[in-house]
Amino acid sequence: MSTPLNCVIVGSGPAGYTAAIYAARANMNPVLYTGKEPGGQLMITTDVENFPGYPQGVMGPQMMEDLKNQAERFGTKIISEFITDFDHNTEGPHKLTSETGEEILAHTVIISTGASAKWLGIPSEQTFMNKGVSACAVCDGFFFRGMDVAIVGAGDSAAEEALYLSKLCTKVHMLVRRDEMRASKIMQERVLATDNIEIHWNTETDEIIGDDEVEGVKVFNNKTKETQTLDVKGFFVAIGHKPNTDLFKGTLDMDDTGYLVTKPGSTKTNVEGVFASGDAQDSVYRQAITAAGTGCMAALDAERYLTEKGII
Ligand code: NDP
Repeated sequence: MSTPLNCVIVGSGPAGYTAAIYAARANMNPVLYTGKEPGGQLMITTDVENFPGYPQGVMGPQMMEDLKNQAERFGTKIISEFITDFDHNTEGPHKLTSETGEEILAHTVIISTGASAKWLGIPSEQTFMNKGVSACAVCDGFFFRGMDVAIVGAGDSAAEEALYLSKLCTKVHMLVRRDEMRASKIMQERVLATDNIEIHWNTETDEIIGDDEVEGVKVFNNKTKETQTLDVKGFFVAIGHKPNTDLFKGTLDMDDTGYLVTKPGSTKTNVEGVFASGDAQDSVYRQAITAAGTGCMAALDAERYLTEKGII
């Protein structure tokens, strides 16, 4: 096994890249493993209008490319692999294993593994996965140009994706399980003002139907119990996310839903030298800017740790 690295960053969303920028500029020679979804959730977002410094907005993938370039400019080594194993060591460097089987020792580990899309859990969702079922309108909406689609969810993600789909598709059926939406007022207003989005209140999905590909969705009204079949070719799920923290189960403290727990006012986990940033530890704010902020904090916490231990 090679000499321990000062700092390994796991994940490549705004948290990971920001941690990398700070760590590289502090001469920590960080190595960043991108994970399975390089760039994270912003890769499947269109306009980011609320990140300070972009008065005209910026496309999510462009922002991630910029962050990656900025991290590389200061010497971050970026490896396009995911980490499959994590073995903490209270005495010394921690051990990580990459998908290739390579074992990596690291004095500090910054976790920025983010969160992934949640699914409804109905069997037909799996049957038609990538055959009309998708959790990413921006990735797959293009395939449904000029067609009718349905989208489940009522948060900001669902609203944003419904609006995106409304520009490509003939009609967007938005399936909302309650009689109100969770999305912010401005997003709700935009959805309600869009002619080709039809909101189905109190409506849940029974099953997705079709032969080889999606041809419709059976839905029911949970108040009136009425059922109906919507003729749609695409079925989008936008019901929230799950933190990508399974790798750390049994080692790092996490809450009931899997979000990593950090010491108040810091990014320190319960294991020395291991820091958590971004959506993997944030069930509340979950914004690109807050993820970037905690990525910065994690790099500063890691630098202090390395200095205190006399490693740098
Ligand atoms: P949220 O958790 O905010 O919303 C999830 C939505 O999915 C809720 O409306 C929920 O319904 C619904 N839902 C959950 N499970 C089911 C189910 N089994 N069947 C039907 N509906 C279901 O997740 P989001 O991903 O929308 O947003 C996460 C965070 O990211 C939020 O803080 C949001 O503000 C932020 N965000 C901000 C954006 C921006 O500013 N541009 C863009 C996207 C997200 P119910 O309401 O009934 O619980």
